[in-house]
Amino acid sequence: MQRILSIFLGVTLAAGLATGCAKQRIVAEKAVADALISDEQEEKIGLQVKQELEQKEKIQYVQDPAVLEYVNRIITPILQSANRDRKGVKWKINVINDAKTVNAFATPGGFLYVYTGLLLAADNEAEVAGVLAHEAGHVVGRHSARAMVNAYGLNALAELALGKNPGAAAQIAAQLVGGGAMLAHGRSEETEADEYGARYATAANYDPRGLISFFQKLQQRQGDTPGVLKWLSTHPTNADRIRHLEQYISQNGLKGTEVGADRLAPIKAKLGGK
Ligand SMILES: [Zn+2]
Repeated sequence: MQRILSIFLGVTLAAGLATGCAKQRIVAEKAVADALISDEQEEKIGLQVKQELEQKEKIQYVQDPAVLEYVNRIITPILQSANRDRKGVKWKINVINDAKTVNAFATPGGFLYVYTGLLLAADNEAEVAGVLAHEAGHVVGRHSARAMVNAYGLNALAELALGKNPGAAAQIAAQLVGGGAMLAHGRSEETEADEYGARYATAANYDPRGLISFFQKLQQRQGDTPGVLKWLSTHPTNADRIRHLEQYISQNGLKGTEVGADRLAPIKAKLGGK
C-alpha cells in the first residue's frame, strides 16, 4: 500500500502539485484527496471539527423541533439529488442558534451548518434552499478535502491515511477551525458549487434563482452590518458570478417554481425576526 501510494503521489506531484499553474494544481490536489482521504477519514475529521466548533467557538444548536423540522424538510430533497452525484456521504444537519450571523458552511464528512441569522436574512425558502444546495455542492465536489491537501501537505495526510499518527485527524481539525480553511474555497470551486446548487435546488422544485436573489440581498447589505455577513465574505459576489449563474440556469433549462415565502415567515417570527 505504501509503495503504491508513494508511486502515485510521485506521479501526481510531478504532474501538477509542483507546477505553478493554479488549474493543474487543483486537479492534482483533487487526485491526491481522492487517493488519500477516505469517506471514513473525512467523517472523522468532520466530527473533530464539530467538537472544535462546540468548544472553541461555543456554538449552540437550535432545539425548537419546528425550526429543525423546517430546515430538514427543505434540505432532504436537495440531499437526495446530491447523493446521486456522490455516494456514501452521511449528511448531518446542524442549525446554529445565532441570529446575528448570516452564515452556512459544510465541513468534511457531510456536516452542514446553517445559522439562524441566515434564515432571518432570507426572504423566502428558495433562497435558503439555494444556499444549502450550494453548500451540499461543496461536499459533492470534495472541496474541503482538496483544501486540506493544499493546507496540510502530503505528509500530514499520508500519516492520516496510513494511520501512523493517531492524533492526525484532531490536529487537522484544530487547524481547520483555527485558520478558517474550511470556509474559503477557490473561485472555480465556488462556480462548481453554484452549478451543483442550482441543479439540486431545481430538482427539489425550488426556483434556482433563489441563490441569485440572496447574493444580491447580501451585496446590498454589505457595509451596514460589518462582521455579520460571514457568508458573503467567503462568497465574494460580483456581476460575473451572477451572470454565470443566470446563464447556467437558462442553458440547462432549470425551472423550479417553489419560492415559499409564506412558509419561511412563521419560522422567522419564531426566531424573533419580522
Ligand atoms: Zn461556497
